[in-house]
Amino acid sequence: LSSKLNGVFDRLRRRGALSEADVQEALREVRVALLEADVALPVVKDLTTKVRERAVGAEVLKSVSPAQQVIKIVHDALVEALGGGEADTGARGLDLNAPAPVPVLMVGLQGSGKTTTSGKIALRLKGRDKKKVLLASLDVHRPAAQLQLETLAKQVGVTSLPIVAGQTPLQIAERAMDLARRELFDVVVLDTAGRLAIDDVLMAEVAEVKAFAKPHETLLVVDAMTGQDAVNTARAFQDKVGVTGIVMTRIDGDARGGAALSMRAVTGAPIKLLGAGEKLDALEDFHPDRIAGRILGMGDIVSLVERAAETIDRDEAEKLAARMQKGQFSLEDYASQLKQIGKMGSLSGILGMLPGIGKMKQQIEDANLDNSMLKRQAAIISSMTPKERRAPDIIKASRKKRIAAGSGTSVQEVNRLLKNFDDMSAMMKRMNKLGQKGLMRGGLG
Ligand code: GDP
Ligand code: MG
Repeated sequence: LSSKLNGVFDRLRRRGALSEADVQEALREVRVALLEADVALPVVKDLTTKVRERAVGAEVLKSVSPAQQVIKIVHDALVEALGGGEADTGARGLDLNAPAPVPVLMVGLQGSGKTTTSGKIALRLKGRDKKKVLLASLDVHRPAAQLQLETLAKQVGVTSLPIVAGQTPLQIAERAMDLARRELFDVVVLDTAGRLAIDDVLMAEVAEVKAFAKPHETLLVVDAMTGQDAVNTARAFQDKVGVTGIVMTRIDGDARGGAALSMRAVTGAPIKLLGAGEKLDALEDFHPDRIAGRILGMGDIVSLVERAAETIDRDEAEKLAARMQKGQFSLEDYASQLKQIGKMGSLSGILGMLPGIGKMKQQIEDANLDNSMLKRQAAIISSMTPKERRAPDIIKASRKKRIAAGSGTSVQEVNRLLKNFDDMSAMMKRMNKLGQKGLMRGGLG
């Protein structure tokens, strides 16, 4: 799929300009790519129409190739369709802005990941948000279901509603809300039963619980691997129960995530969270730009390309890439990297977008290279003499003092910068081994 797209974009690149025929041709292949990524046909049609309108006649920017321009237009349309514009309105992440105890209802088909996601949400709310969470299983259909949630609750360290045999889901929900009110819980997660397929009994049961609990969030949990079926599931739940948000699980699998686009289009409900594994901490916020990159089949590199194209002078980047490949990486390069990173967002964020760099990302975070430090680090480097920048080894105690004074920092910070630079050089070498060469060429060339 990605090679197919690359083929189109290569051809566009060689032509050097975006004609109507170029766009048509690219869109033909984009359509196939989207369908292969499990995007529903009507959604694909909508999207390609939008892209055609924007792309034909659009000026080709000097600093990017026509190929990149098409990527960006397709990508932007994808991001928009995934709810990208809502980033600032709080549409993403859970909305718990209601009087406690706030009920959260989990709905979806059997095996979609409702119970696991309930545990993940509890872990996040307890740890990050310091909430007192009650987990309650309303699944009376599978014998082990309530025990499963109880076990998860123990692992997370939150309370689960004591199991009472013979109760209906509604009775369990009543008991959960009662307990939550009495013992001042902040959030009650109501984990419902699923069925293997949509059926009216399930819907009626869920709707009844919903009518009673009046959940502030009704989260539809959908398995990303179910592809087109996910859309039918989403439509049914939206029609019969009503959902406020979608959680897409198993994005750690190889599904392209096109279902996200369709579900969003069909239900109008935002995708709020992603499940990225079986472990309890494998819960992620939804980033439209990342999923868009994934749907396009070009990894998350698309968003890197996009931001890089906006901010990095191409020649400079190419020179830098060449120097990095030769193993030459000076403090001056480091300073210009810092500047670019400042423009592009945090370094660890950028590295996080590259496939297979998770470990390195951790190292960067360990090196404490966050944005707040970027400016101070740049100041330290500009307080050095050119000679010092070329040969940092000569920077001993007295020079450090001078540099610290000149940059308004401390000797400690100068030391840290030099250490970061060392780490960075070492990392660059490792990155080269990981195929940074291909990225630089594909991304910025
Ligand atoms: P439920 O029937 O909807 O409650 O689904 P469960 O929460 O019991 O999950 C069914 C299976 O899917 C379990 O084996 C989970 O470990 C697994 N699972 C849930 N979420 C994810 C995920 O995001 N990634 C992966 N790989 N597995 C998941
Ligand atoms: Mg379950």
